[in-house]
Amino acid sequence: MSPRLNLGPKPRLGYVESKLERAAERRDDAAYLSALQGDPNGLNYVIGGELVVLKKNGGGFNAAFTANDVRNLGTTNETVFLGLLADAGCFGIGLGEAATQALQARPDLHVTDLRSIAVQGLVGPDDLAPIAEAKALLHWHARHRCCANCGAATQSVHGGWRRDCPHCRAQHFPRTDPVVIMLAIDGENCLLGRQSRFPAGMWSCLAGFVEPGESIEEAVRRETREESGVSCGRVRYFASQPWPFPSSLMIGCHAEAISREIVVDRSELEEARWFEREEVATMLLRRHVEGWTTPPPVAIAHHIIRAWLEVGAGVFA
Ligand SMILES: [Zn+2]
Repeated sequence: MSPRLNLGPKPRLGYVESKLERAAERRDDAAYLSALQGDPNGLNYVIGGELVVLKKNGGGFNAAFTANDVRNLGTTNETVFLGLLADAGCFGIGLGEAATQALQARPDLHVTDLRSIAVQGLVGPDDLAPIAEAKALLHWHARHRCCANCGAATQSVHGGWRRDCPHCRAQHFPRTDPVVIMLAIDGENCLLGRQSRFPAGMWSCLAGFVEPGESIEEAVRRETREESGVSCGRVRYFASQPWPFPSSLMIGCHAEAISREIVVDRSELEEARWFEREEVATMLLRRHVEGWTTPPPVAIAHHIIRAWLEVGAGVFA
């Protein structure tokens, strides 16, 4: 049995533990949603494609806008009902490219990407889940304005949780793309990879989309083998995380490696190699001699790696 490592208090994962009650049963009540939208206590998260609009507030930022603030933003493209926080309605407000650009010039606003907001902690952790919900849903609306069956323009209904085709009557629902993200483990070693787009010195879990007709376990084994040449046996689910870039669900797993030789798929990865547990601990704690790191706590990879560092083979218990 591998020794347990004490890494200190566990940091919070990003985009999860939403405080919103989604209130799906109220989505078809247009009068109710309209009244909620006009309520001065309502919370509105404003998204322009990959960018999020924040209000400057002293030295910090607010993510939620009032209904009145929204009226002063200019033309908005889409409004979706995210849910209720106590009795207040929460909405996602989608902006087009020109409107987003125009807001970048306003001194009272800060327009930036969600990754920066999450990693730098620009807003409270409780704002990340509704922003993720809004961003993923609004991205779907922006990219699915026509019927996939007949090509006619579709209409947003049910608070933004469905698009209906007036021509062929098809109903379309927002998509979520499942992605497996896994740490392959061989005793006191784990397999980490680098994509060329990663920050210098950062190593992470391997990951890939689940394909149609595939279980999570099969996807873990296939993706690990394709990207690194390593075969895996046992797979254990760890935790999941919505990842709104644009609309993935990350399914975190630990996998038991049953082969060691690495053959890197250079179309997917810049490099992949085995790391010893002690070295990975220094990377996670930002104490590595070469400055190498693992992903920050906002990402599930951090927690998948951390769990293995803490309990070793206990992740398969
Ligand atoms: Zn249609």
